[in-house]
Amino acid sequence: MKEELEKLAAEAKHKIEEADNLSQLEQIRIDYLGRKGCLNLFFKKLGQLPPEDRALMGQLINQSKEELSQGLTRKKETIANLLQAEELEQERIDITLPPPMPASGKRHPITRTINDIVHIFSRFGFQIAEGPEVELEYYNFDALNIPKDHPSRDMHDTFYTRPGILLRTHTSPIQIRVMERGQPPFRIIAPGRAYRRDATDASHSSVFHQIEGFLVDEETTFSDLKGILNAFVKEFFGKQSVLRFRPSFFPFTEPSAEIDISCVICNGKGCSVCSQTGWLEILGAGMIDPEVFRMVKIDSERYLGFAFGMGIERVAMLKYGINDIRLFYENDLRFLEQF
Ligand SMILES: [Zn+2]
Repeated sequence: MKEELEKLAAEAKHKIEEADNLSQLEQIRIDYLGRKGCLNLFFKKLGQLPPEDRALMGQLINQSKEELSQGLTRKKETIANLLQAEELEQERIDITLPPPMPASGKRHPITRTINDIVHIFSRFGFQIAEGPEVELEYYNFDALNIPKDHPSRDMHDTFYTRPGILLRTHTSPIQIRVMERGQPPFRIIAPGRAYRRDATDASHSSVFHQIEGFLVDEETTFSDLKGILNAFVKEFFGKQSVLRFRPSFFPFTEPSAEIDISCVICNGKGCSVCSQTGWLEILGAGMIDPEVFRMVKIDSERYLGFAFGMGIERVAMLKYGINDIRLFYENDLRFLEQF
């Protein structure tokens, strides 16, 4: 009976080794270890043995059952592992495909233009100053030598919030605020938003950006102004750019000039952008009027200064070849993504 049991156990072990799927293993378990399986049949045969051998034989049967059960468990694990490996292999993700690039944000062309201009002037030793957009009429007009009845107030169609308070029509009030607070020398660049009651079209917007610059020191001359603006324009628009100063009038500078650069589109040959003149107006500038110095209590006998201002949108349009100012404010990604 013992040999019979060993033979059967060996046969079962062999079958377990040969099995290559879980249902085969389950069948083996039923055949050998099931309630009616062959090993349990041995218990029924125990009665045929002499009483002294029964206990030992019972032990041997249990031992075989235990061994087979362990063998089945191990084989099941092996097969399960193989199946899982196979499954993983099939589901493997192809990581060689380039992923879609995440959209990256960019600076708005206006911000970028301001940064570029400020960067150039800061290399010339200028410092940034800012001022309020809701401004007192005094800083926007009076202190800049623009009295109430002055015709140039007509040029600035102004938004008033209440009498005496307005949305600044230019960045020049920053000049007054800075000079009022400190003592020369000054080298200031002041970018910011300005507001005028202009109807919006391809070249006008009621909200726009300006950048104001001024320098006050002893022995400042008009040549210094020319030198700095010339260096700026060549840096910003390229070395081929040429400047032209035309006499002009501003209440807060004397003498005053409007400054043109050679057309960036046609290089001075004449095109529709420059109305065939070859020149584009980009700046207003001049020597700070002694009357302005008097308002901020700076001794105009001792100090001289120059100031200049330009429209950021205008400069950005020329630099990037943009023909409609409204594109800056529509936030159309197809436009913005190009910068
Ligand atoms: Zn041109």
